[in-house]
Amino acid sequence: MILERIRQSPVARELAAEAIDLMRQMYPICRSITGDGVRSTLDLLGQRIPLQRSEIPSGTPVFDWEIPREWRIRDAWIADADGRRVVDFREHNLHVVGYSVPVRCTMSLDELQPHLHSIPERPDWIPYRTSYYEEQWGFCLRHRDRLALGEGPYEVVIDAELAPGHLSYAECVVHGTTDREAIVYTHTCHPSLANDNLSGIAVAALLARELLTETPRLTWRFVFGPGTIGSLAWLSRNEERLGAIAAGLVVGLLGDPAPLTYKRSRQGTSLTDRAAEHVLGAAGPGVARIVDFEPYGYDERQFCSPGFDLPVGRLTRSPNASYSEYHTSADDLSLIRPESIAGAFSALARLVAVIDGNRVPLNLSPKGEPRLGKHGLYGPLGGPTPAEFQRALLWVLNLADGANDLVAIAARSGFDFESVAAAAEALGRAGLLAGVGDDRDGYLDATKT
Ligand code: ZN
Repeated sequence: MILERIRQSPVARELAAEAIDLMRQMYPICRSITGDGVRSTLDLLGQRIPLQRSEIPSGTPVFDWEIPREWRIRDAWIADADGRRVVDFREHNLHVVGYSVPVRCTMSLDELQPHLHSIPERPDWIPYRTSYYEEQWGFCLRHRDRLALGEGPYEVVIDAELAPGHLSYAECVVHGTTDREAIVYTHTCHPSLANDNLSGIAVAALLARELLTETPRLTWRFVFGPGTIGSLAWLSRNEERLGAIAAGLVVGLLGDPAPLTYKRSRQGTSLTDRAAEHVLGAAGPGVARIVDFEPYGYDERQFCSPGFDLPVGRLTRSPNASYSEYHTSADDLSLIRPESIAGAFSALARLVAVIDGNRVPLNLSPKGEPRLGKHGLYGPLGGPTPAEFQRALLWVLNLADGANDLVAIAARSGFDFESVAAAAEALGRAGLLAGVGDDRDGYLDATKT
């Protein structure tokens, strides 16, 4: 099976260290749903993985939406009468409301107040605010600093521009041996916020790099794009290939201490859902949990909208908005735990391997049990013990009626996927099992080896 080495904790720990280093490089960049911050981020990823980049012009319709104007931010500040910057974009890029329209004026504190955002309960944290689709401007600041502001007047400058440009996204495609595909989507639109979602970007990029050294059966397409408008844009430009998507994951928020959370696709029983159930379901509530679909969250909302209804689930640790540092300056690199990132790599490696290794087997000798000994399948062949392996063979033979895939056989038999897949391979080599549909070739190949 693919990616097996990543399940070993030393390899996962090495990847986690590299992911955190990449996050550190991306952290200072001011990203948004458009603009050069996204492009610089994609440049950094492009040093590690081959990327196909797309630029979609402002004004392009995507379903009920439209690609917005591009936001270019150069500098922003609030300065007191002495010219001292009391709020400074150069100190932290969360200080400016994302997509703020340009402003340059002098005003009193009273006039400024409606444009200020802070969190009274968290006086040392800067909130993260955006206004993509409504023309506004504003500043975010520590509540402690807000309380210290005098009456003014203040010089208020947002040196930004909203102009026709492009929305940028990028794909890393790992070609498989069949024409079916899987998608991994992660959002790239957040500025200096670590868990949400530099963790998702870094883990997806390094997982793609590792997968490029293997030969998967599915074509794995890793998409790095902004939240909502990015997945909508990708969907609108790829409608003709959506029928080939066998599985998919939205990934993000993988570095905080919470257990892994898999959110089911809208279908609820898709391959992705059943594979996640198999990989994470038995891990225990302290390690992983599985929650049902709801039309709230990240880009799974678009992939699982009824017009697409794709088999796309979501893997995070804390779900969006469920940790106190969410969308504040406290979501920085100090929140990221190396062991959380390493655990995410291990879980994703197995999940990807199960999805990729799944197939639908067909018993070619279904009338009664075949005599295993006659086919060289009785005796010390593999599995935890010979007797266990015999049982796995019998389960696969019995359920291989063309209606069950290997994940379903694993679920019903209680064997792990790897044992079921190994039993199926052995049966294929013995000429007792074929594949159906897209899997026919895989088993025919297996019988030749
Ligand atoms: Zn977010």
